[in-house]
Amino acid sequence: MAAGILVGHVGGAEVVPWLGWLGTLFVKLLRMIIVPLVLTSIVTGVSSLGDSRNLGRLFSKTLGYYVLTSFLAATVGLIFVNIIKPGVGAELTAAIQEELPELSSPSSPVQLLLDIVPQNVIQAAAEADMLALIFFCILFGMSIAALPENHRVVLNGFFEAAFQAMMKLTGGVIQFAPIGVFGLMVRTVGETGFSAFKALGLYMITIASGLTVHLLVVLPMLLILLGRIRPSIHFRNMGEAIAMAFSTSSSGATLPVTLRSVEEKVGVPNRISSFVLPMGATVNMDGTALYECAGVLFIAQVLGVELTLGQQVIVVATALLASIGAAAVPSAGLVIIFLVLEAVNLRGPEVETIVGMMLAIDRPLDMYRTVVNVFSDSCGAAIIAKSEGVEHVNERVADT
Ligand code: ASP
Repeated sequence: MAAGILVGHVGGAEVVPWLGWLGTLFVKLLRMIIVPLVLTSIVTGVSSLGDSRNLGRLFSKTLGYYVLTSFLAATVGLIFVNIIKPGVGAELTAAIQEELPELSSPSSPVQLLLDIVPQNVIQAAAEADMLALIFFCILFGMSIAALPENHRVVLNGFFEAAFQAMMKLTGGVIQFAPIGVFGLMVRTVGETGFSAFKALGLYMITIASGLTVHLLVVLPMLLILLGRIRPSIHFRNMGEAIAMAFSTSSSGATLPVTLRSVEEKVGVPNRISSFVLPMGATVNMDGTALYECAGVLFIAQVLGVELTLGQQVIVVATALLASIGAAAVPSAGLVIIFLVLEAVNLRGPEVETIVGMMLAIDRPLDMYRTVVNVFSDSCGAAIIAKSEGVEHVNERVADT
């Protein structure tokens, strides 16, 4: 990572065509793994849960964890923006403005719900529509569990073996991580440089401080209080996934590594991780929730709009929904910020200009919030495993 930053900084945009492809290749390899890995992992996990009561309990715990942590994150964002007030008197004309990328975002919570049911499961898989795919795999896994023994054994065996093969493949791809991460950093630093960051410095510091408090204080506290888990061990076991989240800016692309680390290093059984992690990668985004909330309040401050306490509560609630709706890909969080802005009637060309400026410096913030997103998923898996009576969670720092 450090070597990539250095080469990108010294070489600038000229070295990107030479070295950037290493990162692109690595992310493509990760993306190649996602659909078959998620499919085999969830089907194996859910079918081994057997009883639908087990599934219901796990589902409630998982959802409870997602909502709790995203809510806490959005609140941390709210507090930091209100204390630091980065938008008050901010001079934004110097910042570079950029076009927003086209990313689809659900128009309403009902639409989000409807989108979960796939029209055609093959299409959902082909388009890596994760929520739709997860929905189908859970139902399919439950159906396998309800089959008579002779059929159940065949399908369980098949999916278990396919899942193991996918884990082997993931391990193989991860061996190239250092080269891939190097390429990604060269591209990021080489293309963006550091110049755009000055105008929005205080805003970046605010978001980064909020993310740091959530990552180093709130989540470790939950690990201790809810899971009786030593945060230092969990951090070290998740090191690989954290580095991957940081360099790819995508919870989705990081998912194979998250799954592997949580199962093989943290020690969470597949029946739990296969449930908590793929869904968490798309639904549970603490860093994004914090960002949505802080970003909207920042825009209001720049425009000189006072938001009442009631409106700030609306911002927290919609930030939470927006983080659920955001896709697990780079910059999704920034694009979906319009959903939250709408909720408090902040719209118009001025707002779009500010969001465009925020985009110019979004990459490092995106990298950091993706780390928080992925780390929160892993904490959820560990805490839920503990609550399900799994003893050997984070017993020690794994050596590989
Ligand atoms: N890039 C983030 C993720 O994949 C989403 C975001 O932009 O906030 O987790």
